[in-house]
Amino acid sequence: MSLSRNVEKLKPSATIAVSTLARKLASEGRDIINLSAGEPDFDTPGFISEAAIEGIRDGRTRYTPPAGLPELRKVIAGHLSDRAGRTLEWEGVVVTAGAKQCLFNTVFTLFGPGDEVLIAAPYWTTYPDQVNLARAEPRPVFGAVDADFKVSPTELEAARTPATRGLIINTPSNPTGAVYTRDELAAIARWCRDHSVWLISDEIYRSIHHDGSEPAPGVLDLDPADLGPFVLIDGASKGFAMTGWRIGFSWCDPDLAKTFTALQSQMTSNAATPSQMAAIAAWKEKDAAASALTEMGHAFRRRRDLVVERIREIGLPFVHPGGAFYLFFRVDGLFDDRVTDATAWCSELLEQQGVALVPGAAFGDDRWVRLSFATSDEVLEEAFRRIGAMAGAASAS
Ligand code: PLP
Repeated sequence: MSLSRNVEKLKPSATIAVSTLARKLASEGRDIINLSAGEPDFDTPGFISEAAIEGIRDGRTRYTPPAGLPELRKVIAGHLSDRAGRTLEWEGVVVTAGAKQCLFNTVFTLFGPGDEVLIAAPYWTTYPDQVNLARAEPRPVFGAVDADFKVSPTELEAARTPATRGLIINTPSNPTGAVYTRDELAAIARWCRDHSVWLISDEIYRSIHHDGSEPAPGVLDLDPADLGPFVLIDGASKGFAMTGWRIGFSWCDPDLAKTFTALQSQMTSNAATPSQMAAIAAWKEKDAAASALTEMGHAFRRRRDLVVERIREIGLPFVHPGGAFYLFFRVDGLFDDRVTDATAWCSELLEQQGVALVPGAAFGDDRWVRLSFATSDEVLEEAFRRIGAMAGAASAS
C-alpha cells in the first residue's frame, strides 16, 4: 500500500503501546502492576463532574465555536492573567480536545519542511512525532545529567542552525519530573527571543509541584521583556485528573490563535461541549479547585517521597522528581550480554516480575526507564519489591 509522505515516519505512541500490552496481559489473568500510564489515579473532583452533568441536563450538548465557549476562554484567560499579573486577551485562548491537540495545532501551524525544531530531551514521546507530521525536523537537545537533564542556552546554542525555528520545553518534565527554576526559564526565554526561535512551553504538569507551595514556574511568571514569540500549552488532564474529558488549551498572540482555530475547525471543531462545561467549573470555582488540588498534591508528594526512598535503597541513579508523577531512573548498570538496552530490560521486568514501565527509547535515551507513581502506596511498595528483586538478580549474576 502506498501512503503519503505525511505519515512516512508515523508510529503509535510508545507510552500508549506499553499500557495496552500491560492491560492485555492483565486481561489474560497475569498479575500485572502497570506503572506505565501517564494519568492520575484520582477520580475527577465531584464539583467538576457535576457541572458537566448539569450542563447536559440544560441542553449544553451542541456544537460550540471551534476555539471553545467564550465563557470558558474568558475564565481561562482570567486565570492566566491573575498568574501573570497582567491582562492576557481571552481571544488568545484556544480550547482543544486535550493538550495533545493544542501541541499539534502549534507545531503544524508554525513549522514545515526545512525547519528544525529543538526539543528538550529526554522528551515526551509525542513531540518528535508531531514535528515529523509537520514534515519539519525534530532535533533533541539533552541537558547534563547532573543538571537533571535540564537544558540551558549553552546546549541550545550548540544545537542551533540557520534552520532552527522552535524549541519545545516541558516543565515539570515528562519523563524526568525535573522542574526549571524561574531563572533557568528566563535564560532560555531570552535565548529564544534573541534568536527568533518560537518558545513552546508545555506546562501541563505545572500544578503538580512537590518542592514548593506554589505551582511550578512557567513562562507567564517571567518578565514579559524576556519573552519573544511563545505559545503556552496547558490543560485540565493532569492537574484536575481529567484525562478522559479531553480538555487542553493554548495561549498565544490572538492573531496566531485565529490560525489555530481555523486549523481546528477543519479537523475536530470544538472540544466536547459537556467537557467544556466541566472545565468552566474547574477554573472558575477557585476554592473548590484549590482544595481538590491540595488533596491530590499531598498524595503525590507522599508517593514521590516513597519512590525516592525505595530507588535509593535499590541503589539505581535517578533524576530528582520535583514535579509531575514520574520517576526516571537509570538501568544500564544492570545490562548484560542479553539485555543491552532499557527496552529489553523492561520486557524482562514485565515477563519475570509483571511490572510495566516505559523504556527510555520512548523519550530519547534507552538507558533509562520511566515509572509512573500515580498509584497507591501499597502498589508502589509491591512494584519496588519486584524491581528490587530484578535488580538484585542482575547484580548477583
Ligand atoms: N504534554 C505532556 C508532557 C504530557 O505528558 C501529556 C500527556 O501525557 C500531554 C501533553 C497531553 O495531555 P492531554 O491528555 O491533555 O492531551
